[in-house]
Amino acid sequence: MAAALQCRFFGHIIDVEKALAVRAAALPKHRRDLRFECVKCGKPVGPRAAGERHSAHFVHLQANPDCPITDPRLDF
Ligand SMILES: [Zn+2]
Repeated sequence: MAAALQCRFFGHIIDVEKALAVRAAALPKHRRDLRFECVKCGKPVGPRAAGERHSAHFVHLQANPDCPITDPRLDF
């Protein structure tokens, strides 16, 4: 199962690049109020920037085993 590349943000589907831009543009005190939601289960997710071994994607803030979207491990 692929990682999540989109989320729901104030009712709109946005991609991870947009979410990262939104978070980067927000004042630090407002960042915690940004609510990105999983497109599948609606639980809070956060955008993770691309790294050496993964492209940018969303991860659940709290793991949700019932969600079809999986969170790639950081340490693979
Ligand atoms: Zn989910």
